[in-house]
Amino acid sequence: MKKTILLLTSLIAIALTIVLSMAFSVPGPESRENAVGNLKKLSPGLQKAFNPNDPQFQPLPKPKPGDWLAQHKEPGQTFRQFLFSNPNKPGAHGRKFIYLQPIGNFPQKAPKLQTLQQFLQAYYHPMTTKLLPTIPLNKLTNVRTRHQQLHCPDLLKFLGQKVPKDAHVLMAVTMADLYPADDWNFVFGMAQLKKRCGVFSFHRYGIENDQKQALRRSLRTLAHETGHAFGIKHCIHFHCLMNGSNSLDESDRGPLHLCPMCLRKIHWGLKFKPHERYQKINTFLTKNDLTTEAKWFTSRSETTAPSNEFPPRDK
Ligand SMILES: [Zn+2]
Ligand SMILES: [Zn+2]
Repeated sequence: MKKTILLLTSLIAIALTIVLSMAFSVPGPESRENAVGNLKKLSPGLQKAFNPNDPQFQPLPKPKPGDWLAQHKEPGQTFRQFLFSNPNKPGAHGRKFIYLQPIGNFPQKAPKLQTLQQFLQAYYHPMTTKLLPTIPLNKLTNVRTRHQQLHCPDLLKFLGQKVPKDAHVLMAVTMADLYPADDWNFVFGMAQLKKRCGVFSFHRYGIENDQKQALRRSLRTLAHETGHAFGIKHCIHFHCLMNGSNSLDESDRGPLHLCPMCLRKIHWGLKFKPHERYQKINTFLTKNDLTTEAKWFTSRSETTAPSNEFPPRDK
């Protein structure tokens, strides 16, 4: 009996050690600096924009049980690793547009398609986002359906053939519910980055109850998934738009902005002026009454303003 108890105790201890060694530990300041990379050769303005120690950027909070990083072992992707991954450069080979493709009807209370387009245009400034004409659901004859749900892999196959030649990426949005396989209940969205397309459903965003929250959720999804299309993997270094999320609750806790490392990744392809980009996003958020989110972008556009780069000149 004693032997069995001893054996059980040691087995539990071994299991606990394995679980603890697998548990995600939040990267410290040195690891965050290393992830952003060497900034010495950049202009003073860009050094400021990508400063990993700026208090406007927050380290990643410790994942709660059930959160993405508590369940998925992800290695993250430093700026250097991003460059080595040979990501699709926006604008290369004439692929200079982001396309937004609506599928099926959007009810009155759903986010307006022009609003989503304007947001993507500000977020991925200076790339142009074009809105395509809606594809009616009855045109999706080759897409399997189940209880008013669309089969996501079929839909992606269909969209893969529709990607325009000048598209950096085609992002499809729909209010229809999606499912990835017969034994799954639903999926929020899927992407096929090699084919430069993705599809995302706003069906479960609570559009009937809270339109502002639904808009915020839709904007986060669009910006996050487009970020993947720029070759950015999930961020494990900062509290960031590119953090993975397991649920709406976890996603709602995340910010709408990119950390300095992920910002540097999109800047590599887009070459925007950071304060101009922040201003554009800020104008959009203020216009759409997302004041809490706008606050961060206001202060960030002030921090990165050219007038803050050098001491003011004598008159
Ligand atoms: Zn993701
Ligand atoms: Zn990030």
